[in-house]
Amino acid sequence: MDDAKALQFIEEVTENADKVQQTTLAGILSQNGEIEYLKRFNLDGATDREAFKSKIPVVTYEDILPFIRRIADGDRSPILCAHPISDFVLSSGTSGGEGKLIPAVKQDQDVRLLQYGLARAILNRHVKGLDKGKSLRFVVIKPERRTQGGLMVRSVITRFFKIDVKNLPSDAMKTASSPYEAVCCEDIFQSMYTQMLCGLYERECIIRVGAIFASGLLRAIRFLQLNWKELTHDIRTGSLDPRVDDQAIRGCMTRVLRPEPELANWLARECEKDKWEGIITRIWPNTKFIDTIVTGSMSQYIPAVDYYSGGLPVFCSMYASSECAVGINFDPFCNPSDVSYTFMPQSAYMEFLPLDPEFSEPVDLVNVEIGKEYELVITTYGGLYRYRVGDIFRVTGFHNSAPQFRFLARQNVLLSIDVDKTDEATLQGAVESAYKVLDESKVVVVDYTSYADTTTIPGHYVIFWELLLKDPDGWPSGEVVEQCCLAMEEAMDGVYRHCRAVDKCIGPLEIRIVERGSFEELMDYAVEKRSATFSQYKTPKCVKLKPMVDLLNSRVVATHFSPALPHCAVEERL
Ligand code: AMP
Repeated sequence: MDDAKALQFIEEVTENADKVQQTTLAGILSQNGEIEYLKRFNLDGATDREAFKSKIPVVTYEDILPFIRRIADGDRSPILCAHPISDFVLSSGTSGGEGKLIPAVKQDQDVRLLQYGLARAILNRHVKGLDKGKSLRFVVIKPERRTQGGLMVRSVITRFFKIDVKNLPSDAMKTASSPYEAVCCEDIFQSMYTQMLCGLYERECIIRVGAIFASGLLRAIRFLQLNWKELTHDIRTGSLDPRVDDQAIRGCMTRVLRPEPELANWLARECEKDKWEGIITRIWPNTKFIDTIVTGSMSQYIPAVDYYSGGLPVFCSMYASSECAVGINFDPFCNPSDVSYTFMPQSAYMEFLPLDPEFSEPVDLVNVEIGKEYELVITTYGGLYRYRVGDIFRVTGFHNSAPQFRFLARQNVLLSIDVDKTDEATLQGAVESAYKVLDESKVVVVDYTSYADTTTIPGHYVIFWELLLKDPDGWPSGEVVEQCCLAMEEAMDGVYRHCRAVDKCIGPLEIRIVERGSFEELMDYAVEKRSATFSQYKTPKCVKLKPMVDLLNSRVVATHFSPALPHCAVEERL
């Protein structure tokens, strides 16, 4: 679809949002009328909204897990979907410590590709000449696995580059400066090294720099900080670091490598400067904008992105998950904190659970109210029916009759650095396993809280502990507290451990021990300044407000980091 048609399509579907929603639901249900899941609820082939909503329950992943397990184990009968499930998408959301398996079917992928096309058309309307320059977008894929029943499991990004890309127009990737071989290399170092090297060679042609999430972009900057000597050596000599031994990469890089000593010397001079402020625009001087997501938990990275980019506009193109790709940002260059995503009515059937406990019934797409907050519930071609995605949004307006939403948060997520999402229960479990390392006859933790420290790259979890010594000699040694850090990491879910041990996008967990009385001061602050009441006060299990973080930081008496990587068996995530 060309851009003009895409923009026209957007107008048509958003003008008729409710009708399109009904058609989308009818399409999904008429195709899947005979499947086990819908029959179980006696839908009897109905395809209308009323029957659907009265008979099919709103569910979470845990509710449908038995069905997913059967499919994963090789049951090919039509359980959730009439079309055979070709493979699974592995979500970074977890259930019982395991990654969520989301069935993948061709129609959902078509929806996803259409969404990309629509988002591209919007961007092209705002920025002219995007096809004349190159895009440096750092993407790292993950290894593929198979379920017991033999179905392939991949992350949504991996799937895009390994499968969907083949269905894109042949020139769709031509503006990418990263070679396909580098993006598809599962070895993170080799992939990043090659992408960075190509980006440096093409520095004058690059007009947009980014990564899917802001955390990924900051990792790329850190990668440059750590590896610029080797990278500039390669540019100076036209060679390729021997650590890059992937044959496909080495093959494609013969077309790129050439000795450019002047470029290498200039880059080295820039990189050896102490200050990296504005490094993106210094190295890639024609960058018009940063292309990365800085909404939701990624908003914690906005100051760092601004610092390295010299305040370039940031484009957050869409809201998408393993389950669905529904939201597009129609105002690409608005302030990052104002980004809203218009939910496209053809992408899935959507309902919205009001957060206000007084209203428990899910509301249809066109009936949400400006200013109110909702959790997204979706029904997709891939076999999710009234499924709670777990993401919370606030309605900010409408485009025609399609609502626009600001991403607020992931339900129940306390800590997040990259794709990890640690909830209160997991954190509590982790802290409890750390307690076991302490000699509790001598010392106990009287209170704790946590915070995601993103001033380091990669960011890391910080746990503040206040200790009570039962025995004057009970102060734990540094080694013991380090073991507590590691015990906590071992008790985190599979996504955290994968991020930490394999992707290395999370740094070692840190315990900061604070002075006695610090948590009382925290409470005093909350009661005085934040209208908490004394009797109802509970220590927040995560502190986000700067004054509270500052208060605790100013009381730190000792700090210790996890000394090793937590274990991570890849199949654990399946
Ligand atoms: P995954 O299923 O692993 O692809 O992760 C998808 C999750 O990432 C979503 O459910 C959201 O919590 C988060 N996410 C995706 N897009 C955005 C966005 N534009 N802004 C904020 N968070 C997002």
